[in-house]
Amino acid sequence: MPQVTLNNGVQMPVLGFGVYAIAPEHTEQAVTDALAAGYRHIDTAAGYENEEAVGRAIAKSGIPRDELFITTKLWVQDAGEDSTKRAFDRSLRRLGLDYLDLYLIHQPFGDYYGAWRAMQDINRQDAARAIGVSNFYADRLVDLIDHNEITPAVNQIETHPYFQRGADQDLMRKRGVQLQSWGPLAQGRDDLFTDPVLTEIAIAHGKTVAQVVLRWLIQRSIVVIPKSVRPERMAENIDVFDFQLTEDEMNRIATLDTGASSIFDHRDPQSVSWLGNVRFNT
Ligand code: NAD
Repeated sequence: MPQVTLNNGVQMPVLGFGVYAIAPEHTEQAVTDALAAGYRHIDTAAGYENEEAVGRAIAKSGIPRDELFITTKLWVQDAGEDSTKRAFDRSLRRLGLDYLDLYLIHQPFGDYYGAWRAMQDINRQDAARAIGVSNFYADRLVDLIDHNEITPAVNQIETHPYFQRGADQDLMRKRGVQLQSWGPLAQGRDDLFTDPVLTEIAIAHGKTVAQVVLRWLIQRSIVVIPKSVRPERMAENIDVFDFQLTEDEMNRIATLDTGASSIFDHRDPQSVSWLGNVRFNT
């Protein structure tokens, strides 16, 4: 599996397995299947309420810890310096791990400056090999970078053919922040899987639309974490390293960008207020 090198030298697999919205009772099986399919990078969150099941699958797999790359995220209600440290410890305990590979601020809401101070300490103590953020637009990202010591290693943001984030990626590249795509398949919205441009390119390579989209993101140096609970789709989504999109194909996919979110607008005040006040059992 190809790796990217983060701004602190940590290596991160370019493709992983996301477990958003997989019910806790199905998560252990899904992660077990993903590990069997060859995934070694798992993306969960305290807010997904399935960290324990992820932890059970990891423990039962017998895969050496240093061959895995495990990410979890801090939910908004736990932002703030002290509560972040406590939330981190609870996540580690639920996952059954003694360190994380990547710990992310899930949303740019609440006291995330306090959270970042705690996460810098967690990182300095090597309890999380890398720390980062998620859903940060450029303005908040730059402010966080400019007024703290450690630059986030990763910003995990919605990125797919209909919301390509070119300007965000340019800025992150300049600032040393790795772009990680969530919703790489746009959660199947906007008829992505039957898009005529993507379908034509897929046929030309004997691949599926999902594989073309994941390959396109990886060729843009973006880390991807597609989700599926179906083993055949898990196998399909990781089988993207035996073909290459041409420059012309990359340019044709570039024309699909709408410049707007298909899934969740983190700048809409109503959405911000709604999401910022959702409570999970963290
Ligand atoms: P995704 O774009 O990965 O789409 C997942 C859906 O696409 C599946 O439920 C399935 O219906 C379909 N699918 C998957 N593979 C397919 C295939 N090969 N063929 C046809 N259909 C296929 O959406 P996602 O799960 O939202 O995003 C991936 C991961 O990103 C999540 O699981 C989670 O770990 C992370 N995420 C993070 C945030 C955040 O705020 N940081 C938000 C959403 C998701």
